[in-house]
Amino acid sequence: MSASDRAINMDRVMKRIERLAEIGKISDTGVNRQAMTPLDRQAVELAGEWMKEAGMSVRLDEAGNLIGRLNSAAAPDAPVLMLGSHLDTQPYAGRFDGIIGVLGAIEAVQAFTDRGFRPLQPIEVVAFTDEEGCRFNKGLFGSRAMTGRLEQGELDRTDADGITRREALAGFGGDPNRLQEAEYAKGAIDCYLELHIEQGPVLESLGASCGLVTGISGPLWLTVDLYGFAGHAGSVPMAMRRDALAGAAQVITGFQAMVRAEAGTPVVGTVGTLQLFPGSRNIIPERVQFTVDLRDLDMERRDRLEEGLRKLVDDAAADNKLSYFIREDTNSPPRFCDESLMNAIRGEALSMGLKLPELMSGPFHDALALSYVCPYAMIFVRSKDGISHNPMEFSLEDDIGDGVELLYRTMKSLALANKGERSGG
Ligand SMILES: [Zn+2]
Repeated sequence: MSASDRAINMDRVMKRIERLAEIGKISDTGVNRQAMTPLDRQAVELAGEWMKEAGMSVRLDEAGNLIGRLNSAAAPDAPVLMLGSHLDTQPYAGRFDGIIGVLGAIEAVQAFTDRGFRPLQPIEVVAFTDEEGCRFNKGLFGSRAMTGRLEQGELDRTDADGITRREALAGFGGDPNRLQEAEYAKGAIDCYLELHIEQGPVLESLGASCGLVTGISGPLWLTVDLYGFAGHAGSVPMAMRRDALAGAAQVITGFQAMVRAEAGTPVVGTVGTLQLFPGSRNIIPERVQFTVDLRDLDMERRDRLEEGLRKLVDDAAADNKLSYFIREDTNSPPRFCDESLMNAIRGEALSMGLKLPELMSGPFHDALALSYVCPYAMIFVRSKDGISHNPMEFSLEDDIGDGVELLYRTMKSLALANKGERSGG
């Protein structure tokens, strides 16, 4: 849709994106603003100022989440309509990942208050702390704190410099000793909306500025070890070898073929690491270890592919006289978006004349944590060439504009709706 038909102000959003990109700037378009660093704190302070401009009261909670709140005179204690994303980045990142979700939500509230609308429930915009997880090796910290999903020992994790998360959080302005107080009471969040860049090539291939997320896929992470026997590469006859890498190659090519055969479905499978021992050009590999990442929205299909993979390993071990061990590292079920929220977004997209293809999210987002306490929905914005976690990450101003407008319109219709209507949520 044309910029003049939008209620939101994209000049303001783009200026803010550029302003934030200066904090932690590493090149023309590159940013390194890792969680709970002084740079992250600067970004949070700036976003807090913008929340106040939009009419919100602002606080930093015990977990370091920045929360802007627009009260509702009509129903001050009603469950919250929450919007959010994150401001922290990977060490070698671009300007949009997470950022457009926070700035887009602030803009949506500002467009709402500028027009004199009053919400029938409180609205909160959250910049969740440490979504990326790159500094302390585990992400979604703020959103998991808010939803009561932190695990033992999370505060004791250290970064590359030996700083614990406990120390980093205290320095950032959070309160590691009262972390539980960041958790929202059951039922306190009515629903959650998140705008995010796609970080993949699907919307571009479909020629759409935005897409509707159907769910966040459940990753299965396995580590496979194959054990053979080392020997001289020159003297052991082929028929007498127990070559672990020959077996691994068989598994990996078979796995790729098996997942590719599901073309047209959202399932993706990746072998991302491969290590061999002892790793010498004239020794038959004795042991190979590789990791498998399998993601799908359809658990039945994912289970079937896992079965297939396990059979491939078993067959390859028999063919090459190997033994093996398969370890399960992560096994998360997919989390589906809420049908009634998706319908609300579809309706607004229709009124905007937007094509809104539907796709799943392979990556995690803060929405994943929220999905355990409330219905949620996500809007994706097209990523140029599908590039992300890279300074070359780029989205067109016009595409972001469509996404922010769609977020605004959806938020407005929810915030002004009779809450009785959505009570099945
Ligand atoms: Zn992100």
